[in-house]
Amino acid sequence: MRTIGLLGGMSWESSIEYERIINEGVRARLGGTHSADLIIRSYDFARIEALQEAGQWDSAGDLLAGDARMLQEAGAEIIVLCTNTMHVLAARIEAAIDVEFLHLADATASAVLAAGVRQVALLGTRYTMEHDFYRGRLEQYGLEVVVPHEPDRSTIHDVIYDELVRGIVDPGSKRRYLDIIQAQVERGAGGVIAGCTEIELLVGPDDVAVPYFPTTRLHAEAAVAAALSGT
Ligand code: GLU
Repeated sequence: MRTIGLLGGMSWESSIEYERIINEGVRARLGGTHSADLIIRSYDFARIEALQEAGQWDSAGDLLAGDARMLQEAGAEIIVLCTNTMHVLAARIEAAIDVEFLHLADATASAVLAAGVRQVALLGTRYTMEHDFYRGRLEQYGLEVVVPHEPDRSTIHDVIYDELVRGIVDPGSKRRYLDIIQAQVERGAGGVIAGCTEIELLVGPDDVAVPYFPTTRLHAEAAVAAALSGT
């Protein structure tokens, strides 16, 4: 079994789900008292949010790339960045390491394609919905990506930063998300990507009538498969 390095705490509300799903996956595969071999770097999310808001992506890139290298030097053989948004820095991180970087959009695109969905709605932070680093990567797989119109994008973004990363799971926000999802389905989306690692804490697959792609689960399951490949 290979050692997984988690770059987490963005936010810890979703990182603990990564840890739980990865450990459960290893137990399901190997049985007995087996669990995952993990090294975790968990940030104070307020520091990350401040860099995002200030547009200081270079500083954020230095931080994450340096810590990915540190995880590698500590023994990590696979690096997992536990946030969709910070994949805007994926290239910086990949350039700093020699071990495998498991890109979240690749795991997501594989699941969308396997479900036979071609037009898919993407919900996430404003950065993920409005910039090209994530949508573009999905489109490279031949997917057509739909993002909500305003003011729905602001609603989705604000619920993430004002509620979900703070541990607040509000039924009213869930209803607002479900209305937004319904609007995307009416626009033609055949599936929905929960493209922020906290969204699946609010909306689960049973809440949605079309195929639903929860990125924390998909990424964590891909990490288990990578760690156990060849075992
Ligand atoms: N966890 C979130 C994501 O998957 C948002 C927090 C962050 O900005 O990293 O995009």
